[in-house]
Amino acid sequence: MAESQSKVDMDKLVSLCRRRGFVFPSSEIYGGLSSCWDYGPLGAELKRNVKEAWWRFMVRNRDDVVGLDTSILMHPKVWEASGHVAGFHDPMVDCKVCRLRFRADEINTNCCPTCGGEITEPRQFNLMFKTFLGPVEDEASIVYLRPETAQGIFVNFENVVNTTRKKLPFGIAQVGKSFRNEITTGNFIFRSREFEQMEMEFFVKPGTDKQWFDYWVEQRLNWYLGLGMKREHIKLREHGKEELAHYARGCFDINYLFPMGWSELEGIANRADFDLTQHAKSSGKSLDYFDDETRERYTPYVIEPSAGVDRSILAFLCDAYDEEPDKDEIRVVLRLHPDLAPVKVAVLPLSRKENLAAAAKEIWADLRQRWVVQYDDAQSIGRRYRRQDEIGTPLCVTIDFQSLEDKQVTIRERDGMKQIRVPIAELKSTLAAKLSGEALAATQPLWSSK
Ligand code: ATP
Repeated sequence: MAESQSKVDMDKLVSLCRRRGFVFPSSEIYGGLSSCWDYGPLGAELKRNVKEAWWRFMVRNRDDVVGLDTSILMHPKVWEASGHVAGFHDPMVDCKVCRLRFRADEINTNCCPTCGGEITEPRQFNLMFKTFLGPVEDEASIVYLRPETAQGIFVNFENVVNTTRKKLPFGIAQVGKSFRNEITTGNFIFRSREFEQMEMEFFVKPGTDKQWFDYWVEQRLNWYLGLGMKREHIKLREHGKEELAHYARGCFDINYLFPMGWSELEGIANRADFDLTQHAKSSGKSLDYFDDETRERYTPYVIEPSAGVDRSILAFLCDAYDEEPDKDEIRVVLRLHPDLAPVKVAVLPLSRKENLAAAAKEIWADLRQRWVVQYDDAQSIGRRYRRQDEIGTPLCVTIDFQSLEDKQVTIRERDGMKQIRVPIAELKSTLAAKLSGEALAATQPLWSSK
């Protein structure tokens, strides 16, 4: 059953992200820059993990998808052919009193939602950022910062076919920055002007597109569920006919229950042959595919799952955020999937005494070869566990004086707070098993994809 309201308070999440170094406002010492964000030390790790999980699922674990990394600046004709120069704009209205600007489709009154003032008629506003290539700032040298990564894939379709000899159906995936001069930003990292996308274009024979579209909707849903996202926080929304671009043959949004309500996390579209046909027309180069088995030549159709890195991070953080009573205090836990957790293991010596610290540091150095591991010897062990819970560290390793005698240490897990004692010689293999989902002390699994 889908829920109707998120239990997560956005202000608390933003404050945790700021306090623990996940996300900072950009250029904060100058007062910040509207809707631009910097990822701190933990955020940078989390972001890498999200992108790596996507790349593994979409590219590495399959034999029918290859990767690409194209430049942000592209020939201006790309954006004419793709329709972005003419059509990539949101109708917007301005408040005549407070001068704030809003997306026309986001306000449902005839007056300003902030001050109640009169608003203008909707006007078009192009969302692409412009800049100049080279030293002369004139019309002829205008280029755009890409507003999506997909076009870099379409214009390289032939290069990829020729160099990889991939046969249809196959996909090309890319992760990278995109820029949109959004009118309405806000809701933290949900909608910003500089963000990252994870996009894949899956090229298929026309006529098989419907089956591949259904397949990719299911796959993409499974990606979020496999990383522990709760099913009741995800909803599929099919676009109505009136919402679809004229060329599109179908589109589903994967919506997530964010603190501000259900909103788009990812879009999956059946774009037919629109993009390749447009680029073929505009460049004068054929982008048809020749099928050697059937001896047919055609322009492939394309299925596009398009996800946002930053929106995924926000959704994973919201989903993982949990508070539970702990005596007179509240235990804040980020129940992140181990693959996403920025720190996998914390090494905690029970005391700072020299012999104990030396043994703990030796273990830390060894584990660091394999995982992101934090060492913490400040304050009580209880407080140290709480600090790790709050940043989502799945496992803590505690070294005590007994460890010097029996060469054993304690592993404590974040979710159930269960503890087991293991020989140091088996520590790495035990941690590896736990991080890949094996239950600690044969109880609840450390994470569950249900
Ligand atoms: P919205 O209507 O919410 O702005 P969109 O429908 O324009 O999104 P798409 O063009 O389909 O978005 O882009 C695909 C994905 O890229 C989105 O589902 C989202 O995850 C991400 N994305 C798009 N715009 C932004 C943005 N301004 N900030 C962060 N992520 C974004």
